[in-house]
Amino acid sequence: MLIWGYRQKVLHLAMATFLCGTCGNPTAHALRRAVTKFTLFFIPLFPIHSKYFTQCTFCGATNRLTKDQAQQVLATAQPAQDQAAHQPAPQQPQPHPQYQHPHQP
Ligand SMILES: [Zn+2]
Repeated sequence: MLIWGYRQKVLHLAMATFLCGTCGNPTAHALRRAVTKFTLFFIPLFPIHSKYFTQCTFCGATNRLTKDQAQQVLATAQPAQDQAAHQPAPQQPQPHPQYQHPHQP
């Protein structure tokens, strides 16, 4: 007897900021990819279906994307993430160095 089925896994790909088509706010959207895999005896074997979608972090609306659209979003999302990651930390004013007594021989 074969036990087979499907399992869906959702991967988080990136965050991108653009105008939401549902609520109209320029908010961050999570770009996700849902992969449905064929399972045999509860072991995922191969993907049979894959779809991309974005979810608005403001209103929660999801929006289906084609693979091409998803890659466009990914292309715009990537530099934004890099910028955020590589932003220099604000310079803290250095406290006065502690006065050191000159070494007396
Ligand atoms: Zn929205």
